[in-house]
Amino acid sequence: MTILQEPITDPIVVRNYVGGEWLRSDGEYHDIMDPARQRVIAHAPTSTDDEVNQAIEEAREAFPEWRSTPPVTRARYLHRLRELMEENFEELSRIQTMEHGKTIDESRGETRRGIEQVEVASGIPSLMMGYNLEDIASGIDEYVIRQPLGTFAIIAPFNFPFMVPLWFAPYAVATGNCVIVKPSPRDPISQIKIAELVDEADFPPGVWQVVNGGTDASTTLIDHPDVEGVAFVGSTPVAREVYKRAGAAGKRAIAQGGAKNYVVVMPDANTRATIPALLTSFYGNAGQRCLSGANLLIVGDDSFHDSFMDELSQASARIRVGYGLDESVQMGPMQSPDGKDRVLGYIEQGVDDGARLRLDGRSLDLVGEYPETCFLNPSIFEDVEPDMAVGREEIFGPVMSVLRAGTLQEAIDTIHTNPFGNSACIFTTSGRNAREFQYNTQAGNIGVNIGIAAPMAFFPFGGMKDSFFGTLHGQGPDAVRFFTEGKVVVQRWL
Ligand code: NAD
Repeated sequence: MTILQEPITDPIVVRNYVGGEWLRSDGEYHDIMDPARQRVIAHAPTSTDDEVNQAIEEAREAFPEWRSTPPVTRARYLHRLRELMEENFEELSRIQTMEHGKTIDESRGETRRGIEQVEVASGIPSLMMGYNLEDIASGIDEYVIRQPLGTFAIIAPFNFPFMVPLWFAPYAVATGNCVIVKPSPRDPISQIKIAELVDEADFPPGVWQVVNGGTDASTTLIDHPDVEGVAFVGSTPVAREVYKRAGAAGKRAIAQGGAKNYVVVMPDANTRATIPALLTSFYGNAGQRCLSGANLLIVGDDSFHDSFMDELSQASARIRVGYGLDESVQMGPMQSPDGKDRVLGYIEQGVDDGARLRLDGRSLDLVGEYPETCFLNPSIFEDVEPDMAVGREEIFGPVMSVLRAGTLQEAIDTIHTNPFGNSACIFTTSGRNAREFQYNTQAGNIGVNIGIAAPMAFFPFGGMKDSFFGTLHGQGPDAVRFFTEGKVVVQRWL
C-alpha cells in the first residue's frame, strides 16, 4: 500500500478571487475535512453580501473591454489556461481526492474532462459565428450575430469540485462575458486552484472570479440586477428553486438537478463486459455522481437473474475501499458524514420497506486503517419495487437497488414511473432493443453498453423531467448559445 504524496500538508485559508486580487473574507469560516483521514485541510468562508457585490461590480467594470477583445485573443487566454492545467495535472487531481475523497484515478478522469472543456471553448472564433442571407427582399440582407450579455453566475455542487464549473465558465468567458464561480462550500479548493491558474494565465481582472459561500451567496448572485443569468448544478429541489428565482427576475438559467438512473440488463447482454461496467457505474465516486447507476433493472427469467446477481454481488463485495491517494483503492469514502448518514438512513428504510439487503455495505472492510466516519462498502438491495424509497429517491451513495421486468417495454414503463430523467443505460447485444430503448426512454443521457453515459465537451450535457430545468444545456455549442444573445440585423443601403 503506497500513499501518493499529498499536495495539502497544512490547512489552507480559502480566499475569494475578486478583481484579480486574493481577498480574505470577513465572513464566518468552516473547516474543510479530508473525508478519508478526517483531518482539517482548509478553512473556507461564507462571504458577506458586500463581498459578493464587490465581485459583481468588478465584473461589470471588466465587461466592456473584455467583450470587445477579439475572440481569437480571448481564446489565447484559454490556451494558456489549458497549458497550465496540463502542467499542474497531477496536483489538481490529488487536490480533488483530498477534498472530495474520490480515488486518484477518478480525479484524473475529472481533471481530463475539465481540461477538455477549456479546449473546446478555445474554438470560440468558429463556435460563435452567426449566419446571414443576402437578398431576403430586393437589396436587403439579414444577419444573426451572437453577442455576450455581461456577467454570469455559476453555482456548483460538491461531487465534481473541479469539473462542473468548467461545463460553463470557459464558454462564458470565451464568448466575451465575465463569470463569478461559487463553488460548493463543502469542497471549494479545486476552484481556488483553477483561479490561481486563471491569474497566472493573466486574464484581465474581473473576467473570471471566485466567491465562496452557500445559499446566501447564491441568492445574492441570482438576484443582483447586474447578473444576466445563472448556470446551476445541484439537487433537484434547489435546481427548481434557482430556476424559478432566475425566471422571476427575467434571467436565463440552466438548472441541472438530481437523478435516479436506471440501468437495464437484457438477457442477451454480454455478461463478461457488463459486470465491470456496472461496478464503475454504481460504485464509482462512491455513487456520488449524477450519472451513477442507481436502479439495476434485470429483464429475463429466474435463472438469468440469479446467476447474473451471484456474479455481480461477488464482484461488488471485492471492491477495494480506502483512501483515494492509495492507487490500489477502487472506491473512496463518502464526501461527508452527512452524506454517509443519508445513505445509512436509506439502507434502514429499504430493510423496513421489505427489500432484501443482499450485500450490506455497513460492515466495513477497508484497505488500510482510517477513521470510519465517511466510509461505506457497496450495498445491494434485491426485490426492490419502484415506489419504495430505495427505488424512487436519489440515495447518492454506493447502493444498488435491483428490480425486475419481464420485457423491455415493461422496463421502459418502470423507468417512466420515476420523476427523474438524467440518464438511462441498456446492456444488450440486440440492435433492435438498443434502438427501442434510445427512441422511447425519457432520459437526457442514454447509454448503450455504457454504464456512465457522460457526454463529451463538444456535446450538450442532457437531462429531462425533474433532472433538468431550462432549454439550452451546458457544454459545447449549447453553452455558446446560452451565453450569447442572437441579435438580428436587417439592412439595406440606399
Ligand atoms: P445542493 O443542491 O445541495 O447544492 C448545490 C449548490 O447550490 C451549492 O453550491 C450550494 O451552496 C448551493 N445552494 C444550496 N441551497 C441553495 C439555495 N436554496 N439557493 C441557491 N443555492 C443553493 O447539491 P449538492 O449536494 O452539492 O450536489 C449533489 C446534487 O447535485 C445531487 O442531487 C446530484 O445528482 C446533483 N448533480 C447533478 C448533476 C447534473 O448534471 N444533473 C451533476 C452533478 C451533481
